[in-house]
Amino acid sequence: MSFDPNKIRLHIANDLQERVVVPLTREQAHYLGNVMRRKESESVWLFNGRNGEWRCELLAVGRKGGEALPVEQSASQVDTPPLTLFFAPVKRTPMEFLVQKAVELGVTHLQPVLTERTTNRRMKEERLVSIAIEAAEQSERLDVPVLLPTISFPELLHDLPVDHLLFCDEDDGMNAMADVLSCQDEGGSWGIIIGPEGGFSGAERHALQSDERVIGVGLGPRILRAETAAIAALTIFQSTLGDF
Ligand code: SAH
Repeated sequence: MSFDPNKIRLHIANDLQERVVVPLTREQAHYLGNVMRRKESESVWLFNGRNGEWRCELLAVGRKGGEALPVEQSASQVDTPPLTLFFAPVKRTPMEFLVQKAVELGVTHLQPVLTERTTNRRMKEERLVSIAIEAAEQSERLDVPVLLPTISFPELLHDLPVDHLLFCDEDDGMNAMADVLSCQDEGGSWGIIIGPEGGFSGAERHALQSDERVIGVGLGPRILRAETAAIAALTIFQSTLGDF
């Protein structure tokens, strides 16, 4: 992947096919025209998570929106292998950081899970989605991870949407995540769960430890902030069973 600093990538919802004009939102037109000073007939690269990435010519960039014409497909659609990060919401800034890094590190689904010690119960989903889209644009992904609805901890285990759940547990004596994964076969779908600033409650830990779908893993001898733990866990997963 050759990095081109002048290449602007934007996610759109519309289908992308050769020479079928697509609309740009007002925000996208403002960004292209006023911030990045792009003019009609210059290029922008668009992707929608289905039709790959297309180099498009700007037809119109105005205050009310814009239009672009897909000219050539610059990358065919590649779907990211499924990987879900379940996280107990933390304070706004670290949570937005966590979402941004999780997108760069290749999650396909993000799901907030309200645990007993979760302090921040008010999330601005729209803001998290726009952070995920911006991170997908920047990291040259061809898809945008899905932000799943916030659920409670009991609901998570009752309807676990993955085959294997890696429980990041800061307790002493946990086996290192890389060692645990190195002796796992790759079958089935995987999830990683990270607790809140105050950690999981005793009851939650017990529920996780007694669930056969759950595998406890350690991330080293230090207590990591939730956002740090998410980055560490995703990096280890991607470099053992994932797409690094
Ligand atoms: N109970 C901790 C705070 C939790 S840290 C304390 O004593 O302060 C937030 C979350 O990050 C934890 O719930 C856990 O999921 C993860 N985490 C932090 N450090 C970890 C480690 N060394 N190994 C595994 N998970 C860790």
